[in-house]
Order: sequence, then C-alpha cells, then structure tokens
Amino acid sequence: MPRKSPSTSLFHIITSVLLALAETLKSDTSQLPRLSAAMADLPAHASPKLPPQSLPGGLSDNVSQASSTTGEHTPALPESLLSPAFTPPATPGGTVHLDLNPTKVLHQQQAADLEHKSGHAKGPKLLPQLPEVECIVRARIPTTNGAEMFLHLYHNDLDGKEHLAIVFGNNIRSRSLDSVRPGETEMDRMIRGAYVGKLHPGRVSSRYDDEKAGSAFTPKLVEPPLVRIHSECYTGETAWSARCDCGEQLDEAARLMSFPVEDLASDAPPEAQSLQSHSTGGVIIYLRQEGRGIGLGEKLKAYNLQDLGSDTVEANLLLRHPADARSYGLATAMLADLGCGADSIPEGIRLLTNNPDKVRAIEGPNREVLVKERVPMIPLAWRTGGQRGIKSSEIEGYLQTKISKMGHMIQ
Ligand SMILES: [Zn+2]
Repeated sequence: MPRKSPSTSLFHIITSVLLALAETLKSDTSQLPRLSAAMADLPAHASPKLPPQSLPGGLSDNVSQASSTTGEHTPALPESLLSPAFTPPATPGGTVHLDLNPTKVLHQQQAADLEHKSGHAKGPKLLPQLPEVECIVRARIPTTNGAEMFLHLYHNDLDGKEHLAIVFGNNIRSRSLDSVRPGETEMDRMIRGAYVGKLHPGRVSSRYDDEKAGSAFTPKLVEPPLVRIHSECYTGETAWSARCDCGEQLDEAARLMSFPVEDLASDAPPEAQSLQSHSTGGVIIYLRQEGRGIGLGEKLKAYNLQDLGSDTVEANLLLRHPADARSYGLATAMLADLGCGADSIPEGIRLLTNNPDKVRAIEGPNREVLVKERVPMIPLAWRTGGQRGIKSSEIEGYLQTKISKMGHMIQ
C-alpha cells in the first residue's frame, strides 16, 4: 500500500487553510465594497452572490430611509414587501449608453434615493443642457377621424429610442429635417419627408410643388400653437387599460389640435371652445418613456403592488424607482427644432397639461421654450357626469393620487 508523501499532506493543509479563509471572507461583509469594485471587471457569471439584506450602506436601508423621509407619501411598509432584488432605474433596452457596470448602476440608484431624501422626487428632472435631436423622417398620416397629421421621427444623443412629434397643420416644420444634407438628391429629400406642399406621382422637386405654382411656402404662425407632451403608455393606449387615462388624453389632445372650432362636439370643454383658431395646428411630443420612465415590466409589477393596496406613487417607491422617473429635455429640444422655441415664438406656446411641474420642465434649463398658457385637460368622465370616458374603480384612485401626491390640477 503506497504511503502518503509529505508533500501531499502539506497540499491538504494549505487547501484547508485557503478554504477556511474563503469562508471567513464570504461572511465578512466589510469586504463587500472591495468585492463590488472588483465585480466591475468581471463577467456577469463571475459575480459573487451577495447576501441581499446586508449590503454596506445598503440599498434596502436607503429605500427605507427614503420612504420614511417622504413619510407623507409612503406609510410604514412591512420589510417583507421590500424586494432584495436590485432593479435598475433605466427603461430596459432604452439607452444607447446603457451601462450595466454594477458600480455605476448602483451610483445611479443611490442618486435616485438621494433625490427622494432631498424631497425632489415629485418634480421632473431638468437636464443641465438640452440634448441634440435630429428629425430623421417625416410622413403624412391621414387619421381615422378624417384629420391629417405629419409624423416626425427623431433620433437623439441621449438615448437609443425613436421619439416622435405628431404635428397637426402645415405651419410647423422641423429645421433639422429641412436642412440640406451633403450629396442628397431631390428624391432623397422627398423620401425623408423634407418637402413642402403635397407629394404626388411625378413630382420632381422637394422645394417647389409644381401643382401649386406661385404659392411659395411661407411658414407663419398666427397664434401660439397648442402643445402636448405625452409619455408612452402601452397599457393605456394599446391594451385598453382603465388603470390610467393616457389613451383618453392622447385622443383628446389630437382632437383639440385637429378640428376647427365649429366642428367641436357640444360636450367639448370650455377651454377648447374658447380657442379662437386651430389653423396653426399643434404638436404632440410623444416620448418613449413607458410607465413614468420605469419601463413596462416594472410598471406591471407596480400594478400588482397597487392591487395589494399601494397607490401609484407608493408602488414605484417600493420597487425602488422614483415616483416619477421621466425627464423632458428631449421634448424641449424637439419643440425648439420644430420652431416652437423662444427664438421663433417669443410669445410662447400653450401647453396642454394638468401638471404644473411640467410647465417649468418643458421650458428647459435656459428657457429655450416659453409656455404662455397652461390649458387643463379634464377627464371625459368628469365632464360628462360619467356618461362617457373611462369607467373603472382604478381610475378614480389614480386621478386622486395625481392630485394629492403629484400636484396635478384637474379643475
Ligand atoms: Zn397610462
């Protein structure tokens, strides 16, 4: 029978010491910051499994504190409801510079938590400077209600999403779309929508509509345009959800911008009846920030929390998102590109919103856009005594939370 050699025994001793050391290190949470830093350089599968309840200066601590400092918003919550899983604040897949570096994401989350603590969770984020935007293509869309609109698709340097401007009327045009691109032909310009007048078979010039010879295009705004900033809501606009009024608000904005006053239905709100002319049309800036910026998956989780008794603000905070994660710098930049900025319309625009915080946010960091007037949007059900509009028990709670916790003014 072969004897164990001394070197084999020594190997076993060293191995046991190393294993014991590894165990100590695993249970010693003071090592975690260094581990977290090291994680940044490791592939995902190499990440050490972190004990969720004992993060140093932990996320769960921050969230509990955030919840207690914004106590008027969120009642004491049972610990069991706080998920240990980390949910990044960015809309999934929505960011060009999406950086899954855990350390960086952690910082973003801590910044969001600090935002709660300093009491600014309600107001929309104001970017220090406006992002760059460029209208890539524009197309005429006849709509089901008979009005026409021009859909403008934008790219930008902030995220990888295709944000949209829905333009009613012929007077609002995009500067970046109309500018000449090197080497392009007249056909190129017409294909990307940089034409005046109407397209028709056989047309050869983007600048000159030969069917309307003599009527040179002169963009002229006779009245401040009506503007609505709308954030994407798949459930409310596409999947018939009665948890929110996003679909109704989008329809109503389009109706106000596309119909002449005399065609307004008799149940139209007084503020719409008083609008003198719709000939200037309007713009709906359609931002791709689903679920107040947290993404569809997180929004659906928030709905389940709402069914468990939270309101819309509490549910977001429980999921470690700000009450409102939206920002409006892109909208301001798009409005400026569409000639609705302070440089083109010093008298300002009329903004269709119930949210006073949005007015300041849309104006931009250096007042690139001026809001002359806020035009409220009254829910159809309230205007018609419940005859029309959304009928659900959820919608009343949703509207009340908007009024009591998010500062909305629904007159
Ligand atoms: Zn919605």
